[in-house]
Amino acid sequence: SIWTGAMETKVTMRLDEIFALVLSVLTANGLSRDQAEAIADIVTRAEADACRSHGLYRVEGYVAGLRAGRVNPTAQPRVRRLRPALLQVDGDKGFAPFAANLARPHLIAAARENGIAAMAIARTHHFSALWADLEPLVEAGLVAWCFVVGQCSVAPHGGSTPLMGTNPIGFGWPRPDGAPFIFDFATSAAARGDVELKRLAGEPIPAGWGIDAEGRLTLDPAEALSGALLPFGGHKGSALSMMVELIAGPLIGELTSKQVAALGHRDDGPPPGGELFIALDPASLGGSAPAVAERFFLDAKAQPGLRLPSERRYVARSRSHASGVGVPSDLLRRIKALMPG
Ligand code: NDP
Repeated sequence: SIWTGAMETKVTMRLDEIFALVLSVLTANGLSRDQAEAIADIVTRAEADACRSHGLYRVEGYVAGLRAGRVNPTAQPRVRRLRPALLQVDGDKGFAPFAANLARPHLIAAARENGIAAMAIARTHHFSALWADLEPLVEAGLVAWCFVVGQCSVAPHGGSTPLMGTNPIGFGWPRPDGAPFIFDFATSAAARGDVELKRLAGEPIPAGWGIDAEGRLTLDPAEALSGALLPFGGHKGSALSMMVELIAGPLIGELTSKQVAALGHRDDGPPPGGELFIALDPASLGGSAPAVAERFFLDAKAQPGLRLPSERRYVARSRSHASGVGVPSDLLRRIKALMPG
């Protein structure tokens, strides 16, 4: 069915139709079925949870990375256990979702065995939403963190040219009712995808999101994309972004975002890089953490108007499973045009 929203014409698609579309476009562009399935899954979950900037909108980027020959379409990621609680994953230059799927059971096992474990995924291409990487860990009962170095586009607090990536941070806490507390966000004032969506929609960005090439605050998304985005929270967000740059870059044997930018990839696909995970089994610390935490969440929810991170996604998810997702028809056209021949 086709309906017209406030801004654009949309087509309602079922989640299985979205999955099948992404799978067919990626495999038709030469990506192995196992990698394509992992991406189709993550894109479909983003659409289901109304995270548009990481849904179908990303498919063109995945295909661009493939067509540029940067991404290994038949990657065979390998997991090595360096120490009892330290895992290292070589993504074989493929996309990150398949490597993460393969490695996750090892991280869960190591965290349960040792109480805590860390996993470094390197030599992949990542640009999905971090909640999707965390959710299975948290559903397995673990407290988890993850970090990714994003595309170099953020000026440090006090500076005026890009030095850091959008460098997202994710955290998850398991809850007995099965709807985990998860948050994940860029350490820039806005994720790059949101700035790009503003540019595509011809809308201004809010003040504080970016500066132009001369270092002046700008409301023009195109100017911010060619100038620099800003960290959130002034010097605090800037320092967090630097932390991510270090622990999800050099610490795991990867480059900084500026070094990646210097490689000069011109396509809009995911940048080369990795991801650091830390997972902790709350049971191993003993005590009554889950019960006390539930009290904390109850107290939070007692404040009128408050919603917890992830709640918007969970509401969107049940709606999408019942009645599908509205996909902009223009985006759908562009994705279908990615089919070769
Ligand atoms: P947002 O500013 O949209 O914040 C997202 C987080 O904050 C979510 O957990 C969200 O929950 C929660 N949240 C938002 N509003 C509220 C509210 N009013 N009350 C309580 N919680 C709230 O995130 P960003 O735009 O910075 O990032 C968007 C996505 O982009 C993230 O998923 C991030 O992981 C991803 N990203 C990926 C990169 C990569 O290179 N792979 C780079 C940068 C970002 P809810 O989802 O329920 O709304």
